[in-house]
Amino acid sequence: RKKHFKKQKQKLFRASEPFISVFMWAVNHTTKELSNMRMPLMLMPDDFKAFSKIKIDNHIFNKENLPSHFKVKEYCPLVFKKLREIFGIDDKDYVNSLCVSQPVRVEDKGRSGSKFLHSCDRKFIIKTLSSEDIAEMHGLLPKYHQFVVERNRKTLLPQYLGMYRLTLNGAEHYMMVTRNVLSSHFKAHKKYDLKGSTVQREASNKEKKKEFPTFKDNDFVKDNVKIYLDGESREDFLSKLKSDIEFLASLKLMDYSLLVGIHDCERTDCYADHIASSIDGEQNGNMDVSPAEEENALPNTPPDSPSGELLRQDSRCLDDEDVVDSFYAVKSAQNAPKSEVYYMGLIDILTHYDTKKKAAHAVKTAKHGAGAEISSIQPTLYSKRFYEFICDRLV
Ligand code: AMP
Ligand code: AMP
Repeated sequence: RKKHFKKQKQKLFRASEPFISVFMWAVNHTTKELSNMRMPLMLMPDDFKAFSKIKIDNHIFNKENLPSHFKVKEYCPLVFKKLREIFGIDDKDYVNSLCVSQPVRVEDKGRSGSKFLHSCDRKFIIKTLSSEDIAEMHGLLPKYHQFVVERNRKTLLPQYLGMYRLTLNGAEHYMMVTRNVLSSHFKAHKKYDLKGSTVQREASNKEKKKEFPTFKDNDFVKDNVKIYLDGESREDFLSKLKSDIEFLASLKLMDYSLLVGIHDCERTDCYADHIASSIDGEQNGNMDVSPAEEENALPNTPPDSPSGELLRQDSRCLDDEDVVDSFYAVKSAQNAPKSEVYYMGLIDILTHYDTKKKAAHAVKTAKHGAGAEISSIQPTLYSKRFYEFICDRLV
C-alpha cells in the first residue's frame, strides 16, 4: 500500500485521454511556478489581462503518459492564485486533488460538446469552455474578484480556481476548475438544477435513466420538495442569494442555475460512491490494487478524508453535524419533517444578455423575418423570477 502511494506521489500524469494528462501536467507545472513567486499584496489591473505560456517538445521524461508536443497557457495566474487563497484552498491540496490521480470524465454534455470532469476526490469540477466563455470570463474577473473580496466569501457564486488553455494535436481545449457544489464525501440522494422557469424545465427520460440524474424546476415542484431552514441559516442563505443575483443582473448575466443537492440523513447509503467503494474494498480486505485498477484508483489518503473511524460507522448515518462538511452545505431546520443537508450553489453564470439576444434574434429573423419580437427576458426580470421561485420553496 505504501509503495502504491509513493508511486502516485511521483505524478505520472497518467490518464485515459491525452488532454487529461496535459491538464494534470499543466496544473502541476503552473502552480509550482507560482509557488516560487512572491505574491503582491494587491492585484493590479494588468494581472487581469496577464497569462503564462509554455511549449513542450519532445518531452523525454514520462513519454508513455504525455504527448510529446503540447502547449499550455494559464490565464491570469496571480488572480486565480489569489482566488484560491480567498476560498481557502491550499495550492498543495489543489495540485494533489487534480494531479496525483486522474480526474474522472463524467459524461459529454450536449450543449456545444463541452466536457465535464471531476477530480478523483470529488472536490473540484473541471469543465471545458468555449473561447467566447474565456472572453466573457476576462470581462467578469475584475468585478468578480472585487465582489468576492467585499462579500468576504459570503457568496454562492461559482468559485473559479484556475483557467487554462491546452493545445495538443492541433486542437485547443479551454478548461476551468471550480469547487464542487456537492459534498466530496457524502451522497446527494437527489439533485436539482433550478432556474425559476417552467418552460421545458423537466428532466428528459434519457436524463432520468442515468445513475445520478439532474432534475429540474418542474420535477422539483412535482416532487413537492421544500427546503426547511432555521431562521439564521435561512437569512444567511437568502442574503447571499440576493446579493449574488443582483451582482449578476448588474453585469447583464442570466440563465444561471441554483444547483440543489439533497442528502437524506436517515438513509444508510450516506457516502458518495467513491468513498463507499473504498470502504467496501477495505472491509473485504481488498485494498491491494491490481494494475488494471490502479489507473482509476483514488489516492489512499485524500487530504481531508474522514478518519477511518468515521468511515466504519456504517449501520446508520454519521452524526448530522459531520455531513455539513462542505462550503455549500446547510443543515435542515430542527423542526423539518426529516433531517437533511442541502448543498446549494450557483452554477453556469456566463450567459450574457446581449449575446443571447443576438442569437435569439438571428434565429427569429431566420424563422419569422426581421422585426419579430424577442422573447428573451431581461437579466433583472430573470433574477426576480429566479429569487421568487426559490423563496417559494423555502420553509
Ligand atoms: P486565446 O487565449 O487567444 O485562445 O483566446 C481565447 C478567447 O479569450 C478569445 O476570444 C480572446 O479574445 C479572449 N481573451 C484572451 N485573452 C484575453 C484578455 N486578456 N482579455 C480579454 N479577452 C481575452
Ligand atoms: P452545466 O454543464 O454547467 O450546465 O452543468 C451540468 C450539470 O453538471 C449540472 O446540472 C450539475 O448537475 C453539474 N454541475 C455543474 N457544475 C457543478 C458544480 N460546480 N458542482 C457540482 N455539480 C455541478
